Amino acid sequence: MSDNNPDNLAPHSTDPLIRLTDVNKIYETGGIRFPALLDVNLEVYPGEFIGLIGKSGSGKTTLINMITGIDHLTSGEIWIDGTAVHSLNENRMAIWRGRTIGVVFQFFQLLPTLTAIENAMLPMDFCNIHARADRADVALHYLEQVEMADHAYKLPTELSGGQQQRVAIARALANDPPLIVADEPTGNLDSKTADSVFSLFESLVARGKTIVMVTHDRDLAKRVTRSLHVTDGRITSDVTSDIVSDVQVQ
Ligand code: ADP
Ligand code: MG
Repeated sequence: MSDNNPDNLAPHSTDPLIRLTDVNKIYETGGIRFPALLDVNLEVYPGEFIGLIGKSGSGKTTLINMITGIDHLTSGEIWIDGTAVHSLNENRMAIWRGRTIGVVFQFFQLLPTLTAIENAMLPMDFCNIHARADRADVALHYLEQVEMADHAYKLPTELSGGQQQRVAIARALANDPPLIVADEPTGNLDSKTADSVFSLFESLVARGKTIVMVTHDRDLAKRVTRSLHVTDGRITSDVTSDIVSDVQVQ
């Protein structure tokens, strides 16, 4: 893997939140082996806003699915927040993910029969976080953060795409995870709505969250703190934004 970080960057004072070591993913379908990730090594530090960019089919979603544990790696190690993700079984993985990672998808994936507030409460119910009686208040708090409290009792079909994605972000925040992982979260939104959703992510980073986001949008990709370019299953460039580094130094 190439690493374009200049040598003179200050060393990080904390441990990485995410560490991938020699991660390989080979898909096997009908006897055909397709290597989708090749010896990926990566460290992500708390407070980073990572943009994953690269052509369609380069392996971005596969990399995201390795980090969230939604799919299994073929070899290598993934440590997140002190947990060896590669060695968790399915049950422990689901609970661990629910507590540690807020996942945001391109097509929102809200449950259509539940209201916005019920969708936002799902992770708390699943991981049994907060007393049952408090969960609606907590969900409302996160809906307020994404400016959706006024729509709390609407069904997804009564909301625009941007509003649905805001509810999905409230759901991702529900268990107050340190890490938000998003696969093209603005890919199905018009540019103005995409910009406002992206600004919401920026405000989460400012409040201490770490975000790993796949984006096709060049304008938005310029605004992350560090961009990783994925080419044919490898990270081929790793650039930390000078502007952000300067801001951090001030
Ligand atoms: P990206 O998100 O960058 O578009 P993906 O990670 O989805 O790329 O896919 C990377 C490569 O792996 C592609 O060539 C894709 O066809 C292949 N691939 C993805 N998922 C599977 C799968 N379940 N089985 C076989 N090949 C897959
Ligand atoms: Mg993809």
